[in-house]
Amino acid sequence: MAHERCEQCGNQTPPWDTIHCGSGDGHYELLCTSCFNARIAESAGFTDFENVRLDPIQLIDCEGDAHQFHFQLRLLGARIALDGFELQGELPAGYRFQLIGEADDDVFVLLGRLIEKIRRALSFRHVDFRERRIIDSMVRGRIEWDESQPGHLPLVVVDGKEVLWDDLGRMLMSMEGWQFRLEIADPSDEL
Ligand SMILES: [Zn+2]
Repeated sequence: MAHERCEQCGNQTPPWDTIHCGSGDGHYELLCTSCFNARIAESAGFTDFENVRLDPIQLIDCEGDAHQFHFQLRLLGARIALDGFELQGELPAGYRFQLIGEADDDVFVLLGRLIEKIRRALSFRHVDFRERRIIDSMVRGRIEWDESQPGHLPLVVVDGKEVLWDDLGRMLMSMEGWQFRLEIADPSDEL
């Protein structure tokens, strides 16, 4: 996917590192994350906000597979959101994690906490994708949009992999008669 030009600094920026920013008069601007944060910091008066660029890191899951995580730090008024995600092409896909902190938190402390959170998640497998079954009695994941089911059925991402809603249903049928609990949580919560 093509890079887009930040309307503030003019830099060509991959889509995952851009933000559509409303200006109040109904006009939307495409900004790179860095320009977006600088603008929020200026309007909110956070003059000592550290607009750091975080390099991607590679982490290994419990099966020995490597995952490359990219990071996006967004200043959201008095809070900051730190996202860590994998990319497919130039778009986030696979594992995705978020931490919410205060605007004056040390970014590298937050990054350390996010990496610990990612490591905890990577150390666990919910689904055996070869045998297409739930390994133990728990599945945790993320609800996403399924292009082939425009808004009718979700796509879930479990263990960093996409699972069609129908496939999740098939996996559940080996547990017919059992009970289940479905709990929805904020993107930054740890399940
Ligand atoms: Zn920019």
